[in-house]
Amino acid sequence: MTAARGQPLVVLDDVQKWFGELHVLQDINLTIKRGEVVVVIGPSGSGKSTLCRTINRLEPVDAGTISLDGKELPEEGKALARLRAEVGMVFQGFNLFAHKTILQNVTLGPIQVLGQDKATANERARSLLTRVGIAEQADKYPAQLSGGQQQRVAIARALAMDPKVMLFDEPTSALDPEMIKEVLDVMVDLAQQGMTMVVVTHEMGFARTAGDRVVFMADGRIAEENTPTEFFTNPQSDRAKDFLGKIL
Ligand code: ADP
Ligand code: MG
Repeated sequence: MTAARGQPLVVLDDVQKWFGELHVLQDINLTIKRGEVVVVIGPSGSGKSTLCRTINRLEPVDAGTISLDGKELPEEGKALARLRAEVGMVFQGFNLFAHKTILQNVTLGPIQVLGQDKATANERARSLLTRVGIAEQADKYPAQLSGGQQQRVAIARALAMDPKVMLFDEPTSALDPEMIKEVLDVMVDLAQQGMTMVVVTHEMGFARTAGDRVVFMADGRIAEENTPTEFFTNPQSDRAKDFLGKIL
């Protein structure tokens, strides 16, 4: 990795967000360092998805700032599109384009947004599909793939944009149990390669083995932040104890 590993990459400074009366993100201060894997956990409705969506400005914030690699994320316009391209996002639903092949799904962004020529984009896409273990599916359509394979395509598609950080919002929650591991394995591999990652997940095995830090959210706040080992063995807040008691 680059010499800048460990430097702040994503910085949220006193971020506030409301949905009408609901103060969905409250006083969020969070620094994600280059190469770090931050696992976000917490009860349903605590604001985890909203947090992810604000990081790439799919959702505007009402106060505070979010910066990426030292540049504050603008509200809109071309500058925002450029910075947003540096944040890869993988959702629970795979959101692949149904009428495009797997290869086309991966090359679309690089061709249309990054201006890559088709041959370059195809070559890179094939190498990413190999990396996520589905090279042989390149010419199929999403519906012909299993959920686990589709999610790996979604990861390859995000990687094709050469993001500085990857956000994963419950990437395995919609998968059958036997497919969870194949997706987590790809994520662990990415983490080991030094990718900066924010991962919302209930997969505690992943959090323990691949996470550098756990951020626990409750009611729109970061209620607790710790190393995975400390968090799981010695949670401090009642909310975290209660949550862990239910899921472990
Ligand atoms: P989590 O991902 O932790 O389950 P979310 O970020 O999805 O939580 O949601 C946090 C809260 O914000 C929930 O109460 C949810 O109902 C509410 N919420 C999410 N999106 C919207 C929206 N677009 N408009 C209004 N309320 C929303
Ligand atoms: Mg969510």
